[in-house]
This record gives sequence, C-alpha cells and structure tokens, in this order.
Amino acid sequence: MRGVYCTREISEGLSISPETVRARLRELLPGSRIYVLDQVHSDGIVLAQELAPDDIPSADGIISRDSDVVLCIRTADCVPVLLWVDDMPIIGAVHAGWRGLAKGIVKKGIEYMHSFGATKIHAGIGPCIGPCCYEVGRNVVDAIGTEEVIHAGHSMYLDLAGAALSQCLEAGLMNHMVHNVNVCTSCHPGQFFSYRRDGDAAGRNLSLIGGKSWSLPGLQAE
Ligand SMILES: [Zn+2]
Repeated sequence: MRGVYCTREISEGLSISPETVRARLRELLPGSRIYVLDQVHSDGIVLAQELAPDDIPSADGIISRDSDVVLCIRTADCVPVLLWVDDMPIIGAVHAGWRGLAKGIVKKGIEYMHSFGATKIHAGIGPCIGPCCYEVGRNVVDAIGTEEVIHAGHSMYLDLAGAALSQCLEAGLMNHMVHNVNVCTSCHPGQFFSYRRDGDAAGRNLSLIGGKSWSLPGLQAE
C-alpha cells in the first residue's frame, strides 16, 4: 500500500481550500479518483463509496473499500493518520487535532474498518506538532485527559501523536503495526507548514494513501 506525507513542495503557495487541493492533485495524479474532506474537527467519518465523485463532505475521516482511490488529509499541526490492511483493499485517512482526538476519531476510524471485516490493520501517524512545541491550556487537557501531557514548569505540552497512538492500541492494533514518523511540523519549517508557527498564513501539509500507480514531485513511483 502506498501512503505518503508530502512535504511543502506539493502545496507551497496553494490556497488551503479542499477544492484547490483536489484540483492540484487531479493535475498531478491524472486518472485517479481523489477524495478530500471539508475538515471541521469533528468525529465524522464517511465511506468513499457513498460519495458522488465531486462531493467534499464535512467530515474528518474517510474510509474506502477500494484501495485504488486516493484519500487526502490536509493538516498544519494536527495529526494525519493513514490506515491500511494487509489482506484487504480497505484504506482510511483521518484528520485528528485535539478536538477530534477528544471525540475518539482515530479509534472510531479503526472500528469502522473492523466493521468491514478488516483485522490486520496498520496505522501511519504522520508529521504533526510535537510535545516540544505544542503548549496547551487547561481546556485542552481537560478535554483530552492527562495521559499525553508533559509538564514543564507552569506550562503543559501535549503529545498529539502519542494520543493518536494510544487510540490505535485501544482499538486493538498491534504495537508493531503502528508506525509513528515522529516528526514535529513546527520544528521543521523547510519541510512542513505549521499553524502554531506560521499562524493564518500557514499552508497545508498533504497526506495521501491509495492509488494504483503515481509519482509526485520529489516522490517517485516504485
Ligand atoms: Zn517541535
């Protein structure tokens, strides 16, 4: 299964709207059916096969029972989680910020795949803001729980990727099938956009999974 976390090269200078991102991906991956979401920090998860080709649903997770389509998540500090299965053509992609994690979106995405009979599920946890940079307030800690919070002096820092990983394990994934790239978006300005670092001017990092055969600038097809 092909899944990638694109560096800034793909989306530099691009409007962050899902329509623009999809148009750009359609240019880069001609012939592929591409799904993007209007991400709203919810726990809503849609099934690609229930969508019309031009739909952009308000949701934060998407599952496809056909791994030839391409699923895209846009982030700028939140966690992109890509999901695939060893022996079935089922894939998924989830956008998980603290609000989505508080609602259990990663766990729900995996449970959705279980409902189709998928068992050997892998999860890829992509670049997101790390506990090195993600200072949070009491409201976030109250919503998400204290397990992934690191205290330093009077400040609290949240490990978003750690929270996503915990939900993967809670949903029954094997530890060795959860792949955390462990890269902080805020610490790597040359590679990734970061909302915390760049504010409203931040672009969006793209995470993609699925497709038959494709290559992107800087990322060659196998
Ligand atoms: Zn950092």
